[in-house]
Amino acid sequence: MLHKILLMGPQGSGKGTQAEKLSQKLKIPAFGMGQLLRDEIASDSELGSKFSGILKSGELVSDEDAAEMLKQRLAKPDTDNGYILDGYPRNLSQYQAFNFDRPTQVFVIDVPREESLRRLGGRLTCRECGKVGSISTELQPGDTCPCGGEWYQREDDTPEAISRRLEIYEKDTAPVIERYEDLVCHVNGVGTIDEVFVRLVDQLK
Ligand SMILES: [Zn+2]
Repeated sequence: MLHKILLMGPQGSGKGTQAEKLSQKLKIPAFGMGQLLRDEIASDSELGSKFSGILKSGELVSDEDAAEMLKQRLAKPDTDNGYILDGYPRNLSQYQAFNFDRPTQVFVIDVPREESLRRLGGRLTCRECGKVGSISTELQPGDTCPCGGEWYQREDDTPEAISRRLEIYEKDTAPVIERYEDLVCHVNGVGTIDEVFVRLVDQLK
């Protein structure tokens, strides 16, 4: 069974976690473009050194270059039974660049804005390793991460900044979701990780 799955959802929807769980269940790789970009740069490939130069000069990698990187990644044999793309394409321009393959299913994890705000508003980041956690009785701003770094609340995790990002997500992804209409499956993202995962698996084709 070939699974070429796109996983979409706002920040705080838990799609990264769900992508990992699906990857384990289906035994196919899951990746996001940020990770692919970091891997490409670390690999010292031709494309990687090009990206490294672009990022060093403060520019952004073009959607065409990013798509070319993805195309090369999808040519590797570990994707023979499919793959899970986490958060891509996230706008119309990326959708148009992603013209060399067609997913078999597009999952949209829906989380109401208040819920995303609540989740992201309690988010802490480690200053050293960049790990993300949430404020709880066990974890508070100023605590120490296992790596030795300090947990802190990022400036862009303020309610205003989060609201703005969620608005951009909704505006940018709406036309993408529309174009994949026949493949789209909406999944309720409210609940525990396992509850949401069961809903996803139930809808797998
Ligand atoms: Zn850390």
